[in-house]
Amino acid sequence: MTGPTPLDTEIRRQIARTGPMSVARYMSLCLGHPEHGYYTTRDPLGRAGDFTTAPEISQMFGELIGLWAVSVWQQMGSPDGLRLVELGPGRGTLMADAMRAAKVVPAFREAVTVHLVEISEVLRQRQQDTLNHLDVPVLWHERLQDVPHGPTIILANEFFDALPVHQAVRQDDGWHERMVEIGGDNKLVFGVGREVIPHFEATLPKQVRQAPSGAIYEWRTDTAVLEVGRRVAHGGAALIVDYGHVESATGDTFQAVRSHAFANPLIAPGQADITAHVDFQALATTAESIGAKALGPIEQAEFLRRIGIEHRAAVLKSQATREAAAEVDAAHERLTAGGPKGMGQLFKALTLAHPALGTLPGFES
Ligand code: SAH
Repeated sequence: MTGPTPLDTEIRRQIARTGPMSVARYMSLCLGHPEHGYYTTRDPLGRAGDFTTAPEISQMFGELIGLWAVSVWQQMGSPDGLRLVELGPGRGTLMADAMRAAKVVPAFREAVTVHLVEISEVLRQRQQDTLNHLDVPVLWHERLQDVPHGPTIILANEFFDALPVHQAVRQDDGWHERMVEIGGDNKLVFGVGREVIPHFEATLPKQVRQAPSGAIYEWRTDTAVLEVGRRVAHGGAALIVDYGHVESATGDTFQAVRSHAFANPLIAPGQADITAHVDFQALATTAESIGAKALGPIEQAEFLRRIGIEHRAAVLKSQATREAAAEVDAAHERLTAGGPKGMGQLFKALTLAHPALGTLPGFES
């Protein structure tokens, strides 16, 4: 039996001092605490880590998205000074694959500066190692707000699921915020805020308002998607890929993953990845409210098929040994299969774009 994690002690101290904390505050400490946060202290990706992501599964993912970005840039009129931004770039794998694929259009590489938005010092180091031989400028930022304005293409794979989520619980007298508190047995437990959240009902999408007692509704602060919307409404497009639901709905998706298995999110804070599903309707509605156009969301399988994964897999296999070809098949399957094993249906792709851009690759109706 190991003792409490340093963050466990810190969270208890905060609760003892100021009372129960929101689920969002808890999640934000678990992931981003400057000393003990999950992302601040480690590289969580890959087989030896806690989870894996599409770009880590296959080079095809980043390559196809790189070609997507090239063709969006061309639709924008091939502007100079393009900011190619990635939010939460992990190990830098997607960007490395994207820029390699983009070599087919040298003018794109001449026009582009890469901007990486990353909070983790450990992962910034990884990204530097992965991208140090790129022959285009690469800059790092704490926040999207710090990226210089101009023509912009933004990529975000598994970024929004890592942003803190609030939960509200429906009770007979209205919605209350779900909290983390210290239970009778001295364990961290979920609780419910005493007061009703004022005027909350009016902010809810129609289908959620009639939820029965006990239902849980999740929402995120708008800051990140508002900034994405603002940037693209000025000139550009964003591609958001993540797991989540097409329509806002009730349900508790707050989850922890450790060593590729689900774990209790209230045990060992700071040692497990904590996420919640992305509400794509909320992202689209918020971005549209400030003048961006939303395309999708569509399932990841459909998006990858439309931007050419079958062709790319065939090309890779034609140059591969039998073993390597089997790996291409396995990766293709994992990225596009439905059901709980595959990422094809659970993951969705959404584009937010300048309204004048028209339809974009992968989102043709
Ligand atoms: N996109 C990568 C990594 C996904 S993991 C991939 O697909 O492999 C989530 C990434 O978001 C990590 O790089 C993490 O450090 C970063 N991240 C999490 N919260 C962040 C925040 N608030 N601001 C910037 N980056 C953040």
